[in-house]
Amino acid sequence: MATSVRTFVDCREFPSENNCSLKISGTREEVIAAAAQHAVSSHGHKDTPELREMLASGLREERA
Ligand SMILES: [Zn+2]
Repeated sequence: MATSVRTFVDCREFPSENNCSLKISGTREEVIAAAAQHAVSSHGHKDTPELREMLASGLREERA
């Protein structure tokens, strides 16, 4: 059985003013999409290619 690697971003690893502790995990595409929405709704960011690039650079692989 092929195991798909899940990735996650941890909001605590990004600078934020509201001490957000959200962790989002899933496939790379899912995490970036969800994290971009979260960054817009909760952190007041604009959904830009730069934002997604920053999120992608913060992705970590999740090991079971
Ligand atoms: Zn957050």
